[in-house]
Amino acid sequence: MEILTDHSLANMNTFGIDCIAKYFSAFRSIEELAELLQSKQVKQNQRLILGGGSNLLFTKPFQGIVLKNELSGVELLDHDQDHYYVKAQAGENWHQFVLHCLNKNYAGVENLALIPGCVGAGPMQNIGAYGVEIKDVFESLEAIHIEDGSIRNFNLTECAFGYRESIFKQKEKNQWVITSVTFRLDKRPKLKTGYGAIEQELDKMNLDQINIQDVAKAVIQIRSSKLPDPKTLGNAGSFFKNPVVPIEIYQAIVKQNAQAPAYPISESEVKVPAGWLIEQAGWKGKNRISHGVHDKQALVLVNLGHARGQEVLDLSSDIIADIQKKFNITLEREVNIY
Ligand SMILES: Cc1cc2nc3c(=O)[nH]c(=O)nc-3n(C[C@H](O)[C@H](O)[C@H](O)COP(=O)(O)OP(=O)(O)OC[C@H]3O[C@@H](n4cnc5c(N)ncnc54)[C@H](O)[C@@H]3O)c2cc1C
Repeated sequence: MEILTDHSLANMNTFGIDCIAKYFSAFRSIEELAELLQSKQVKQNQRLILGGGSNLLFTKPFQGIVLKNELSGVELLDHDQDHYYVKAQAGENWHQFVLHCLNKNYAGVENLALIPGCVGAGPMQNIGAYGVEIKDVFESLEAIHIEDGSIRNFNLTECAFGYRESIFKQKEKNQWVITSVTFRLDKRPKLKTGYGAIEQELDKMNLDQINIQDVAKAVIQIRSSKLPDPKTLGNAGSFFKNPVVPIEIYQAIVKQNAQAPAYPISESEVKVPAGWLIEQAGWKGKNRISHGVHDKQALVLVNLGHARGQEVLDLSSDIIADIQKKFNITLEREVNIY
């Protein structure tokens, strides 16, 4: 186990931002992680646990230690009449894990295909797409406390999952390294095809019967056509969360635009798609030479070449201010800023 100094993170974040970490190390076992947590570089500095770097934006050199999670392995722990219990190590690539489940006919994660990043980051923001969130298939996770090295199991309730939220972004922020996640997957699939364009995509396939592999194929097709591939255009997916707003605010928008979309949350609140607001405000496709707003999906900010993280952050601040002024709605960033 080696601790490197002044290490470039340019290839370790999907925004492709050039950033230098003062210290850097990768761990491939719990023992290596435990040893690292004892080091003076960890004890005396700010720490960042890094997975695939697909949900963060570096805005300045990282003055602490980056710990890259490379724990690997997937195992079937148990099964009962209805479920398979599958444990994945936190450094496993999420999409590869989904493919593994499809291959074994473990149902439940098919709508979450093609989300970048690692398994261990999934519970951080309760990743979700096409009507499914990780909480829907979550059994428990194991984590190591950064300060005292103790190991703890978190169950569903203890994770306090919400929309792009968990206890690890709130009360327990920066306290734990998630080392593995156990999933409760279905033996008999409960297909969820009612969200987005999944049904239209399945129709095109002209199938007699639909299975989880077909749903995943439809999701992959839709995602590939809408979202920029970070390998060719740096980005971190949705930069902002979809805001939940009081119904009166939404009604004020409807007066200006009768087509304004919203999803009911409660009797008094609705969720408004942030991408729609940003598009209506005229930001879609707007470029600032090195960076800009994606021309197919206004929720995604992109690195067009050699953007600096601070420039992308400034663009996001300008969008937030404009949406506040035009719609009286405060957008919140989904991407973690460092
Ligand atoms: C093109 C694209 C599409 C996307 N689509 C979606 C989508 O549909 N739905 C969605 O929810 N997200 C989406 N995302 C965001 C992102 O893929 C997810 O949030 C993913 O879970 C991040 O994983 P990661 O390993 O890259 O995390 P990183 O970016 O490496 O880390 C994110 C945060 O989690 C922390 N962290 C990571 N691993 C651990 C760990 N093991 N223990 C403790 N803390 C940890 C980090 O410190 C950091 O604060 C998308 C991103 C891109 C680029």
